[in-house]
Amino acid sequence: MWKNIVAAPADSILGLTEAFRNDPNPQKVNLGVGVYKDDAGKTPILACVKAAEKLLLERETTKSYLPISGDPVYAACVQKLLFGEDGEVVANRRAATVHAPGGTGALRVGADLLKKFMPKATVWLSSPTWANHKGVFATAGFPLSEYAYYDPATKDVDFAGLTRDLQAIPAGDIVLFHTCCHNPSGVDLDQGQWREIVEIARERGWLPFLDFAYQGFGIGVEEDRYAVEQFAASGLDFLVASSFSKNFGLYNERTGALTVVSPTAAESTVAMSHLKTVVRVIYSNPPAHGGLVTATILSDPDLHRQWLGELAAMRERIVAMRSALVDGLNARGVAGDFSYIKRQRGMFSFSGLSDATVAWLRQHRNIYVVGGGRINLAGLTSKNIDYVCDAIAEALRS
Ligand code: PMP
Repeated sequence: MWKNIVAAPADSILGLTEAFRNDPNPQKVNLGVGVYKDDAGKTPILACVKAAEKLLLERETTKSYLPISGDPVYAACVQKLLFGEDGEVVANRRAATVHAPGGTGALRVGADLLKKFMPKATVWLSSPTWANHKGVFATAGFPLSEYAYYDPATKDVDFAGLTRDLQAIPAGDIVLFHTCCHNPSGVDLDQGQWREIVEIARERGWLPFLDFAYQGFGIGVEEDRYAVEQFAASGLDFLVASSFSKNFGLYNERTGALTVVSPTAAESTVAMSHLKTVVRVIYSNPPAHGGLVTATILSDPDLHRQWLGELAAMRERIVAMRSALVDGLNARGVAGDFSYIKRQRGMFSFSGLSDATVAWLRQHRNIYVVGGGRINLAGLTSKNIDYVCDAIAEALRS
């Protein structure tokens, strides 16, 4: 069957990781891949996760299936993270949450759900966006379009372009937003801008879909959910795809959730019934472990506190690396203002490096950066920061 079929192209970011792995140079640096790394260059298992796993091992009595929507304690924990301990949405049962396999699974469940009831919708993505957004929504059968987001000239949000585009999107379309830590640019919307966006959504009637893959990696768990809170307060319908890959370090446990928020509890019940039918035919019910770990941590005050501390340490290390990079380039007299790298949030930065510089860094210094110049700040460490700053300074001079 496959002999006349052309092979699919490799995923560009995962392809870069493979090239990195095969590079024998001990000084090589990977600024491409989208996982957190500590100062030793490792992607650690959080201590709170290890502690929760120990508890689970002792307490676990069965490997029988979870419900289609996943563990109900997990769903309640996800809702508290999204809406706060005593959020109105939770009290009024306006949210329906299913445990999905990672943020990607949550996006796909949401896409399949919406395709059933909004078959003619176009899905609007930020320009630029995480590459997989296009794949997920196109594969679910949606035509795609883009709204203005990042302005390379100002290295900031093109808010005039963004509002112009959002105002022109018709009712019945779907608009995907990055709730915080925009991937790939690192450039986020501020609180006033979110409030304006909620107003446009209300006036125009398109459906907001929030991708929330980095809660706690921006400013903090509560600060980062500002957009969710604003949409919740608006009473509008919207969806949130959560991922706990980064903030709990549960990458390979595929731990995410899709939450559908509705104006009333009665509508939310209907939404949940359809969510279950969507999940049933894709993966029937979710993998348990990551959700149980997350729920164990969030339900235990000590583990919860420990998680917040470990999350803050990850966030602060990234912020420190942003400063070290900018200061390092300035100290080397590199022309240009790199201060925008300090203003960006989350793991990623549009570094402003050209494709030619990216190619030079890889060829001459074994430093791997994704085309377009997105760098993962978590790939920088106290050991390689000088090497990277020297290399960028030289690349920009040559
Ligand atoms: N959305 C965005 C913006 C992401 O960056 C990622 C992860 N790279 C995801 C969703 C998916 O996360 P997960 O690995 O949990 O599927």
